[in-house]
Amino acid sequence: PLIQRLDYQQPAFWIRKVDLTFDLDPAKTLVTSKMQVERNRSVPHGPLRLHGEELNLLRVLIDGSSVSFRQEGNELVIDNAPDADFALEIRNTTCPEKNTALSGLYTSGGSFFTQCEAEGFRRITYFLDRPDVMAVYTVTLRADATKYPVLLANGNLVSSGTLEEPGNKGRHFAVWSDPFPKPSYLLAVVAGDLVAREQRVRTRAGKDHLLQVYVRRGDLEKTEHAMNSLIASMVWDEARFQLPLDLERFMVVGVSDFNMGAMENKGLNIFNTSALLASPATATDADFARIESIVAHEYFHNWTGNRVTCRDWFQLSLKEGLTVFRDQEFSMDMAGTTSARAVCRIQDVRQLRAMQFPEDSGAMAHPVRPDSYSEINNFYTATVYEKGAEVVRMYQTLVGRKGFEAGMKLYFERHDGQAVTCDDFAAAIADANPGSALATRLDAFKRWYSQAGTPRVTAFGEHDAAARTYTLRFTQQTPATPGQTDKQPQVVPVVMGLLDRHGTALALNANGDTEQVLVLDQAEQTFVFENIDSEPVPSLLRGFSAPVVLHDGLSDAALLVLMRHDSDPFNRWEAGQRLALNRILHALRAGQPLVLSPVFIDAMRGVLNHPELDPAFKELALTLPGEAYIAEQLDVVDPQAIHAAVIAAQTQLASALRDDWAAAFEAHQIQGGYTPDPVSSGKRALANLALSMLVLDAQATGDTVWPGKAYQRFKDASNMTDRLGALAALVNAGAELAAPALERFHALFKDDALVIDKWFALQARAPESEGRVFARVKALTKHADFTLKNPNRARSLLASLCMFNPAAFHRTDAAGYVFWAEQVLAVDAINPQLASRVARAMDRWAQLAEPYRSAAREAIARVAAKSDLSTDVREIVERALASG
Ligand code: ZN
Repeated sequence: PLIQRLDYQQPAFWIRKVDLTFDLDPAKTLVTSKMQVERNRSVPHGPLRLHGEELNLLRVLIDGSSVSFRQEGNELVIDNAPDADFALEIRNTTCPEKNTALSGLYTSGGSFFTQCEAEGFRRITYFLDRPDVMAVYTVTLRADATKYPVLLANGNLVSSGTLEEPGNKGRHFAVWSDPFPKPSYLLAVVAGDLVAREQRVRTRAGKDHLLQVYVRRGDLEKTEHAMNSLIASMVWDEARFQLPLDLERFMVVGVSDFNMGAMENKGLNIFNTSALLASPATATDADFARIESIVAHEYFHNWTGNRVTCRDWFQLSLKEGLTVFRDQEFSMDMAGTTSARAVCRIQDVRQLRAMQFPEDSGAMAHPVRPDSYSEINNFYTATVYEKGAEVVRMYQTLVGRKGFEAGMKLYFERHDGQAVTCDDFAAAIADANPGSALATRLDAFKRWYSQAGTPRVTAFGEHDAAARTYTLRFTQQTPATPGQTDKQPQVVPVVMGLLDRHGTALALNANGDTEQVLVLDQAEQTFVFENIDSEPVPSLLRGFSAPVVLHDGLSDAALLVLMRHDSDPFNRWEAGQRLALNRILHALRAGQPLVLSPVFIDAMRGVLNHPELDPAFKELALTLPGEAYIAEQLDVVDPQAIHAAVIAAQTQLASALRDDWAAAFEAHQIQGGYTPDPVSSGKRALANLALSMLVLDAQATGDTVWPGKAYQRFKDASNMTDRLGALAALVNAGAELAAPALERFHALFKDDALVIDKWFALQARAPESEGRVFARVKALTKHADFTLKNPNRARSLLASLCMFNPAAFHRTDAAGYVFWAEQVLAVDAINPQLASRVARAMDRWAQLAEPYRSAAREAIARVAAKSDLSTDVREIVERALASG
C-alpha cells in the first residue's frame, strides 16, 4: 500500500515508558515488553494497533489481565483498548539467526546486533513503531556469559551480574537505561564477544565522558582512527554549534553484516566495519576520509536526529540532509587550508552529480521531502541525503554563517525533545533571520522540499561598451518528473564574480565587492553591473552554491580564463571539467571519434605542472568527468559510446603528457611513515593517477617499463593506498601483470574481509574491453569467497558491475540485464533492502538507446512478474516500468 505524506495523523495512544527484557538465544530470543500507554486526547478513541513483523506472539496483558486481540496483516489490533492510561505487557519470540534481512535483531559472526531504522523495531516486538512515539527505555539483556560476555544497550549501565536461578546456568545480565525519550528506531542492543578501545574525555563544559569503540577481537588496532574521529567530532560540534555530548558514555560498535554505512542509535552507534576499521596496511586514504565523515555523521545525529527527531518518515531529510551538511562542514574544517576545503567540496559535488542528478532524472525521482512511498527504506536516497544537504547549505548561503548558527540555536530552543517537520526547521532558520533573503521568500524557498528534478538555469551576459554596463539575464526551469509536471521557479542563490580577460577580479558595486550572491526566484531575471569597461568573464555558481545545472554558454577561451585565474577554486576545477565535457559531448553528438585539441592538452599540462596548485586539486582537475555524469547531459544514452569517448580522452591525455606524468610520479613520492592527512593523501592520489596514466600509455605503445614499475610498487607498497593504486593501474590498463598481482593480493589479504571486498570491486569496476570484465564478474560469483549474504561482499560485485561499470553492464546481447534480474531475485529472497539497492541499477533504462532500452525493459518486466517480490523491490521495478 502507498503511504501518503498528507495522511499523517497523530496516534490515538502514546507510549511513554518501555521496559524491555531480552532473553537472548540465536534460535529463539524471548522479548518481554512492559509499556506505559497514555491516551492521546487530541485524537478520537479507537482500537490500539501495534506494528509487528515475523514475531511469535505469546501473550498480551493490559493492567495485568489478558485481553482479546486479533492479528490483521502485520498489525496486532486490540479493539477494546481502554480510553485511559494503562500498562501493556507483551511477550513474543523472534529468531535472530534466521534474520538474513539484517533488520530488527540478528546475528553476525556469532554476536547479536540490531538495526531498527526505519521500521526494524517491529521485527523485535509489537509496538507503535513510528518516530513521533517517543519513550524512555530501560533494557535488560540476559545471555550466555561465555558466548556473549559483552551486553550493550542505549544509555547508562545501571547494573549487571550473574543470573543465579536454576535454568539460567552460565548466563549473565545487564540493565541499561537511557534517560532521553526516543523513538523506537533509535533503540539498539549488542551482545557478543567484543573488545573495546576506550578513551576518557572532558568537554568544554567540564563534563567527563567515556568513549568506547567495540570490535571483534583482533580488530582493536584498526580502531584508532575512528576514536580520533569521534573525539574531533565532539570538539567540533561544541565549537561550531555549541552542541555538547549529553551522555556519560558514548559507544560505537562495528559489525560485518550491515545494510548501510552506520546507525546513530542513542549512545550506541552501530557501524558497518567498512565505515569503522582502518589501518595503513588495509585501508586507503579514501577509506580514512570516509570513516572520519561517517563517525562524525552518526555523532552529529545525536542532536540533529535524536534530540530533535522526525515526526514521520517523510521528514527524513530533516535529520539526514542537515546531518550530511554538518558532516561536510566538519570534513572541510578538518581539511584546513582553502585548497583542501575546496577539494572536499569538489568531491561532494562530484558525488552529487554522479548519484543524485541521475536519480532526479530517472524513475525514482522524488522531492527531498517525498509525497508517498510504499517502502520507506527505498527513500534513504541521494536526494534525501545529498540534495537535502545542499538545501541546508543554501539556507546558510542566504542567511550567512552567523545567521545560520542563530537559526540552529532557535531550532533547538524550540524543538529539543520533539519530533518535528522540515517546516519547523525552515521556520526556525527564517525566524532567527527576519528580513533576510530567506525570510522574505520562505514559501518559494520551500519548493526545494516539494519539487523533484534538477533545475536548469541559463545565464546570458551582454556587455554594453557605451553604457559601461554588463547585464546578466537568467532563466530557470525544472524538468517534469514522474507524477510532477508543473514546476514553479526555485529560489537559487548564485554566488558570483566577474573577471576581466586577464583574470583580474572586477568590482561589482560601489563598495568594491568582488563577490556577491544573486538570488533568483523568478523564471526570468536580469541583473545589471555598472562601470564595467570591457566584456567580462562571469564566474557563476561559485562553490556550487545551488544544486542546479547551469548553462552559461561560456566559450573555451572564457573557460580557460576561469580555469587559470578564478579566485574560487571550485569554479577553477569546474572550468576544466567543462572543457573536457564539451569535447566529449561534441564527439558523441557528432558521432565522431574524440580528438583532444592542443589547447586542451596544454591547459591540462599547465595544471599538472603548476607550481602552486595542490596535488589533491591537480588530481581532481586531471580526472575526466565520470560516465554517469556524461550520460546525464544526453537525452539518449549509449553507454558504449560514452565509454569509448572517455577511454579515447584518457589514452590521449596519457600519451600527450607522458613525460609530465613521469615527472609528476617521481615528484610526489612520500618519504617516511603513512598519515592520511590531506597533503600526503593528495600526493598519493596524484602519483597514483600519474602511474595509471603511464601504465595505460605503456599498454598502448607496448612498453614494459611502467607496468614493471607498477608491479614493483604494488609489491613494495607500505600502505593500501599505494598498493591498491598500483594494482588498479595494472588491472585498469589490462596489463599482463594484472593477473599475478591480483593473485598475490588475494593471498596476502585472504583473511581480511574488507580488503577482499576491494579485490572483488576492483575487478568488477575495471574498464570493459571485449566483454572480459563481465565474464570475470560472472566467474567471480562462483568464487569460494563470494556470498550474497554479506552486503559488503554482494555489493563488491553486483553494485560495482551494475551501477558503477556501465560499459560492462549494458551489453548488446542483454546478458548484463539477465544477470541483473537473476541476482536481484536471488538477493531479494535473503535481504530485500540490499536487493532493492541493486535493482536501482535500472532507474534510467528509459533514457537508453536501442537495443539496450527494449532489453532493459524486458528484464525489469520479468522481475516485476514475480508474485512473491518484497515490497522493497516491487516498488523499484514498478516505478521503473511506469517511467517509460
Ligand atoms: Zn544519517
